[in-house]
Amino acid sequence: MSPILTITDLHKSFGDLEVLKGIDMTMQKGDVVSLIGSSGSGKTTLLRCVNLLEDFERGSIELDGEAIGYRHEGVERRRLSERHIARQRAMTGMAFQQFNLFPHMTAIRNVMLGLTKTKKMAKDEAYAIAEKWLERVGMIERRDHFPGQLSGGQQQRVAIARAIAMNPRIMLFDEVTSALDPELVKEVLAVVRDLADDGMTMLLVTHEMRFARDVSSKVVFMHHGRIHEEGPPEQIFGAPETDRLRGFLANSE
Ligand code: ADP
Repeated sequence: MSPILTITDLHKSFGDLEVLKGIDMTMQKGDVVSLIGSSGSGKTTLLRCVNLLEDFERGSIELDGEAIGYRHEGVERRRLSERHIARQRAMTGMAFQQFNLFPHMTAIRNVMLGLTKTKKMAKDEAYAIAEKWLERVGMIERRDHFPGQLSGGQQQRVAIARAIAMNPRIMLFDEVTSALDPELVKEVLAVVRDLADDGMTMLLVTHEMRFARDVSSKVVFMHHGRIHEEGPPEQIFGAPETDRLRGFLANSE
């Protein structure tokens, strides 16, 4: 089986600050990979590179066998056309810490927007798909509410439905619960878990260690822009090999 995602020797800097220092990672269909690590270790930047929200200087990322971009020392980076970028972006769906819903549109209009505008789908077809996903995240009864009339957890569930309605090959979740009040975290994690159980391929950044342990097929511990330790959750949480990971886990409890 060929991998859905292959990241090879990925390097990314912001000015003089090298944030990713050679990341290698492979994901198969149905994998759920959690990125953990201290703040500033490069987790979000890695997700943003996969979604082409960030450019990178060296290395390569392949999604479903197609190169997103690469540059090796001395080799000029291939310029990607707008069309290529749009196609690659369509392969990934991303949910953010801040939900980024359009405030002047109802929940269902938010979910429909990408389908009608980007995918050029007819309105009734888009409506049916949006209904299906709102149902799935438990938001069908609020379909005609505006974001301002919804709780943070509800807005996040709509945002997740919006990303998944586009039928991405892989979903990227960037700390989707960290802007939420504690009592709202559970309902969003339940939605993510439900999608994982259903076989959705996911790469997620999370501070919820218990959740990462329960839901992941693999956990990747990042430190200072490198993968410091990785493995199945039982190993990472149950038998960490390095002091650094042990220290991180002790502080995360
Ligand atoms: P994490 O998600 O692990 O907390 P990030 O990927 O957000 O880490 O950030 C890694 C480092 O890159 C941090 O030092 C952060 O300040 C820096 N950084 C992130 N985004 C930018 C940016 N747009 N410009 C400059 N520095 C950035």
